[in-house]
Amino acid sequence: MADILDTDIKFLKGIGPKRAELLEKNLGIRTYRDMLYHFPTSYVDRSTVWRIADFAGSDMPSVQVKGRFVSLTVQGEGARARLVGLFSDGSGVMEVVWFKRIRAMREHYLTSTDYVVFGKPTQFNGRWSMVHPEVDPPGATAAQIESRGVYPLTEQLRNRGFSSRTFSVAAQDILSAMRSVDETLPPSIIASLGLMGLGEALRVIHNPPTPAQLERARLRMKFEELFYLQLDIQSRSRHRHAATQGFYFPRIGQYFNTFYSEFLPFPLTGAQKRVIREIRADMATGRQMNRLLQGDVGSGKTLVALLTMLIALDNGTQACLMAPTEILATQHYETISQLVAPLGINVKLLTGSTRKKARDVIHTQLQDGSLHILIGTHAVIEDKVKFKNLGFIVIDEQHRFGVAQRARLWGKNSILPHVLVMTATPIPRTLAMTVYGDLDVSVIDELPPGRKPVQTLLRYDEDRFATYQGIGRQLRLGRQVYIVYPLIDENEKLDLRSLEEGYDTIRETFRDYRVAYVHGRMKPEEKDYQMGLFASGETHILVSTTVIEVGVNVPNATTMVIENAERFGLSQLHQLRGRVGRGGEQSYCVLMTKRNIARDTRKRLELMTRTTDGFVIAEADMQMRGPGDIEGTQQSGLPFSLNIANLATDGQIVQMARDKAVEVLDADPLLATSEGVLMRRQLSRLISRTRDWSRIS
Ligand code: ADP
Ligand code: MG
Repeated sequence: MADILDTDIKFLKGIGPKRAELLEKNLGIRTYRDMLYHFPTSYVDRSTVWRIADFAGSDMPSVQVKGRFVSLTVQGEGARARLVGLFSDGSGVMEVVWFKRIRAMREHYLTSTDYVVFGKPTQFNGRWSMVHPEVDPPGATAAQIESRGVYPLTEQLRNRGFSSRTFSVAAQDILSAMRSVDETLPPSIIASLGLMGLGEALRVIHNPPTPAQLERARLRMKFEELFYLQLDIQSRSRHRHAATQGFYFPRIGQYFNTFYSEFLPFPLTGAQKRVIREIRADMATGRQMNRLLQGDVGSGKTLVALLTMLIALDNGTQACLMAPTEILATQHYETISQLVAPLGINVKLLTGSTRKKARDVIHTQLQDGSLHILIGTHAVIEDKVKFKNLGFIVIDEQHRFGVAQRARLWGKNSILPHVLVMTATPIPRTLAMTVYGDLDVSVIDELPPGRKPVQTLLRYDEDRFATYQGIGRQLRLGRQVYIVYPLIDENEKLDLRSLEEGYDTIRETFRDYRVAYVHGRMKPEEKDYQMGLFASGETHILVSTTVIEVGVNVPNATTMVIENAERFGLSQLHQLRGRVGRGGEQSYCVLMTKRNIARDTRKRLELMTRTTDGFVIAEADMQMRGPGDIEGTQQSGLPFSLNIANLATDGQIVQMARDKAVEVLDADPLLATSEGVLMRRQLSRLISRTRDWSRIS
């Protein structure tokens, strides 16, 4: 029997082919079902009617006002034309302004008729106004008005006259036409977790009778989403584990043992040892390893990478380490080639700027097997680069690389090499569980001994003198200093100027010291040269943009000043700060900001002064910004996008969904029972309907 929810949305009253096309283009809504799964993100409190006289402050919530238009006039011409209504509720008058669809609005609204106007009041030239509010028709009943959800919309839809109201009405129409609905979760799960049924949940979510019922309806819909997400992740991961043959590395041999007993520069931390054991165990199963190594900045991931590469060498294969920037690749190359020099291991560096001659040597040696370890940027995944026998790949700072690039490296061998992805961006557990669901995760949760946590200060621009004094003290102690400026695209010119001015000021203030200067628009060679001078201690101060953000290691640098700190996100500040505190000396990070900053921004900066724990910071970052913004999660490729669940705040439901998915797959690995078939059908339905949410405003 045909399911009414599969009906094309164009057949819905008031939609038609044109609007249907817009809906599909903007929100991927094609069917009645899609429409019902386009959930309100919040609900308007329609129990309160505001008085215009009571409007106050700079950040009013969206409110409703009841009254009449005193006048409606078109002002301005051409592109500047707008419709301005004076709206009075008896307590005061505000302006209601439309910039789009002016004619239609002018004809639509009448003076001396009561309307309920809903929107966010702002103050402009001493007068309150609402731009493009929702206006309920004179005849709207209380019930119609009250249960209104706020639906996510795009700018284009808004301009074409769609409003939350359109969605609300459409959902109601579908719900009243719908007699029953096929459950999307197996009855056994609904029963065991006491979830609300699908039909009821959909009704409640678009039209909540009480907050308690709404809560249960949302839980049900979130669980549904997260459960299928986990089911997909878990089953793929099981499949991969069972199916993917990998190199079998049974031996710990000469290279590893000699290095470990004779050339290890310092004893490993407990966490480093544990992670190496985990990797060794993976490599000895005969299945391909796919492991994510999370370790805060400075936790010593490089050494873990090296030791595990030696295991690959001991088993007769080659290893490759890929880093996101030339500077980082070079630094890895220098560290690693120095460490293994006594072992007679052939290590080479391949980046975009490697000369042809050196490149040819690398190509030849890779193919005849005499090159053991290749370190480089994404130049290592070019098609020309062919290994004789690549057994192990380490990818550093993974969020800079896309999944597609990873896949390319894998494709270089008939047997898939083991893969270790290293990241310093600590990802909260529930997010890792989802985003990296098919990777195994190792964590270095311990810093090398003797590290003192970086002391972080928040300072206002007018107290710059105190900052300079601090810099002076550190320089006199023989330490080095980073000064970081933001550089973001929209404002590139302006930013470059403030960077240059900063550079001049610093040079004049610290005449006895040498100052290097780096930004992203320099030629790579020039950048590397300047960075090199700082890394070797020849220059004392490095004035730069965020190009130093990732991985650079200069232990003698003890102070970092971050200018315009208010313009950075938490995770980025944490990454930057990780450049200091890498030696045994007490290090400092000074966050400079103007005095007038938004409350959220201040909270963010104050958190930085209180903790150096990357996980605490990542968690807070995710709470403040939502998981979509966490670096690396956009390209991580969830199999379908989430309409209602939030990985940042729904951690408990993620856990619940995961447990259930594991239970289901343990009992019915092939999803072959009748409930299994139901779940498979729902899963493929979800996966085929992937939406692009990036345009939602
Ligand atoms: P990250 O995890 O940020 O990549 P690195 O691998 O660059 O960190 O290591 C940071 C610093 O700590 C380096 O100077 C490295 O030599 C040092 N280090 C690494 N492991 C240890 C250890 N077990 N004991 C002392 N210092 C260590
Ligand atoms: Mg590193």
